[in-house]
Amino acid sequence: MSATELLFRTDAYAADFEAEVLAAEPGRVVLDRTLFYPEGGGQPGDTGVLRLPDGREFKVTDTRKGGEPGEVAHVLEDAALLLPTGGRLAGRIDWERRHRLMRMHTCLHLLSAVIVAPVTGGAVGDGYGRLDFDLPESPEREEVEERLNALIRRDAPVSFRWITDAELDAQPELVKTLSVQPPRGHGQVRLVEVEGIDLQPCGGTHVRRIGEIGRVHIAKVEKKGKQNRRVRLEFPTNRTTIN
Ligand SMILES: [Zn+2]
Repeated sequence: MSATELLFRTDAYAADFEAEVLAAEPGRVVLDRTLFYPEGGGQPGDTGVLRLPDGREFKVTDTRKGGEPGEVAHVLEDAALLLPTGGRLAGRIDWERRHRLMRMHTCLHLLSAVIVAPVTGGAVGDGYGRLDFDLPESPEREEVEERLNALIRRDAPVSFRWITDAELDAQPELVKTLSVQPPRGHGQVRLVEVEGIDLQPCGGTHVRRIGEIGRVHIAKVEKKGKQNRRVRLEFPTNRTTIN
């Protein structure tokens, strides 16, 4: 079956690419390659534009995993638009939004190193994010915020490497998230390492150095059930209401 080459896996900093239409239905298009990250692992799908060779541009309002394994579906603003299969086009993601998502996503890796407890859930939004921890007591808000910002100031590099499913099975302590297991069945799992701070399997997009995250604020520590504590983060410049 058709599969989309995930260009963001090799370069999370690229914004422009060219591709061919593999499959299309009204309002949705699957490309042979893409920089648009499809919603998954708590990170929202990318937005941006697709441009035909004649210069016409179409807005992409969301990106989802496609109907077939390995496919990425670009959701078009015009729900009636049907792009021709086999046609060439250029794409550009909304880079500023993606960079904010990458900063927050990477910041959640750091939070999982500051609070040492199993992660039961999480989500990334534009300017905010949260992680849920399996913890009987609430961590102290100011202390978590201080330690998190101290880590960010270390400006450690972020790197990737691939291991086999069998190697991951031999190191179950790498998997911190109980609710989101790393994708298996492809034989290989991508490990994301924040040097000296965190190492875990993850398919999301990350900043190159954690100093790029900038200062973060712990908005709230909430009790969500007897064994569950929800920690909400936000960037000080973005006070969007969080859910
Ligand atoms: Zn990640």
